[in-house]
Amino acid sequence: MTPFQHKRVLYQGSFFILFLCAPIFDLLRFDLIQGHLIVFGQPWTLGLDDYLAGRIDNRQMTLNILLRVILPILLLAVGFLGIAWRWGRVYCGWLCPHFSVVETINQLVRKASGKQSLWDKKPGPPYHPDGTPAPSDRRYWLVAIPFALVFAFLWAVALLTYLLPPAEVYGNLFALTLTRNQALFIGVATILLFLEFTFARHLFCRYACAVGLFQSLAWMTNRRAMVVGYQRERARDCAGCASFCDHVCPMRLKPRNIKRLMFACTQCGQCMDACETVQRQNPDGSLLNWIADQQALQADGSQGLLVSEPAERKPKTPPDLP
Ligand code: SF4
Ligand code: SF4
Repeated sequence: MTPFQHKRVLYQGSFFILFLCAPIFDLLRFDLIQGHLIVFGQPWTLGLDDYLAGRIDNRQMTLNILLRVILPILLLAVGFLGIAWRWGRVYCGWLCPHFSVVETINQLVRKASGKQSLWDKKPGPPYHPDGTPAPSDRRYWLVAIPFALVFAFLWAVALLTYLLPPAEVYGNLFALTLTRNQALFIGVATILLFLEFTFARHLFCRYACAVGLFQSLAWMTNRRAMVVGYQRERARDCAGCASFCDHVCPMRLKPRNIKRLMFACTQCGQCMDACETVQRQNPDGSLLNWIADQQALQADGSQGLLVSEPAERKPKTPPDLP
């Protein structure tokens, strides 16, 4: 793993822990019993009770709605989509607790089957971009499946703590005294998430996640946004490579494509790291790099440039075996 990917995993791991712990420390949760949000330990209410009791008038109630609902949502949306507009789906690739599960299970499935996803047509090359062997072993299914189940259970419990007091949920869980509804929620959510993590994890990110979709839409409106760029004029240098950029992509994209075919790119940088490793002896370096502004304008394909997808080549031997 490159230092860049180490850094990304650190961000992802930290955010995953934050995702699990935020309700426990009352950083953020919606308490269904009290009927309001809790933000940094403080109740975030609209003042509806005060309004109904006549303690605040219409003007104050309108102001509460503006300041405590509309303004925060607008500020969050503008900040979040502004980042996506400039840098793409960096939230997905660097923070999202679902995407870290996607990547972890992808790696285990690759070790078990040679493919990152059950839906891949063919296994990837049996070696890594640096030429070291990457054998597959079916026994890894015995790790991949329980991992998917554990992640699904963790997610289900965490989701419940965003709705009910975490002390009650964890207390009941450890004492095996969950209420019927709590057990039902955790059971059903675990099953659904397990199926999703096993069969459709990256498909959910690509086609079903609203957070990802809105980031992608914001990103696509900015033709100068940061994007993975391919030096197509050097395509000949790909001849000795087993298309590692395609094989490492957790979203199962083809990173040498034009931007609109990379709609779901999460800016994880794994394709560039793979290429840099493959081309480490090449004085011209990687063929894939992040580009922005004027370079990005040319790479988005809307001017009729860079539209053909390079053919996949398969060398008989690994490149540059150490
Ligand atoms: S195209 Fe590259 S940067 Fe984008 S998701 Fe795939 S591997 Fe990550
Ligand atoms: S861009 Fe790099 S990783 Fe992708 S096929 Fe060409 S040499 Fe291989």
